Amino acid sequence: MKHIALALSLFFGAPQSELPRPTARVWMLDTDTEALAMMMIASEILGVNVHFVNTWEPGVIVVDLLNLAPGERVIGTTLTLGPCHHTVWANRDVLVVAHELGHALGLGHSYFPGSLMYPSKEGGMYVSPSERRKMAREAKSLASCTE
Ligand SMILES: [Zn+2]
Repeated sequence: MKHIALALSLFFGAPQSELPRPTARVWMLDTDTEALAMMMIASEILGVNVHFVNTWEPGVIVVDLLNLAPGERVIGTTLTLGPCHHTVWANRDVLVVAHELGHALGLGHSYFPGSLMYPSKEGGMYVSPSERRKMAREAKSLASCTE
């Protein structure tokens, strides 16, 4: 059992209770059931709470989940306009949504196999403890953005 717990903690990071669980303030441009479900799953992968707001203001992450026309290839992108302004566009793919939300919460790319922040579709769901700490700091600083 000890080995299983160790393997799980290596794969998923330290247990949630040992790390701060940040709250990201998010304005969704699409609020259909599928988009909201994707955001909830993405936030669980990242280990953040999502607090939905219904307007743009400094410190809010704007998220637009794309319904692409056949042949369109956008996967996901995050535009950071300053310390208080992040806009995320992502295909309706949970791992893409989580990856882009990770960028909006201050994460760069990781080349660790299985990492959520791996810069291609070959990534996985792994978020390291240091990435979790970084997101907690960024969410806190976003929450106090007044710009
Ligand atoms: Zn990326």
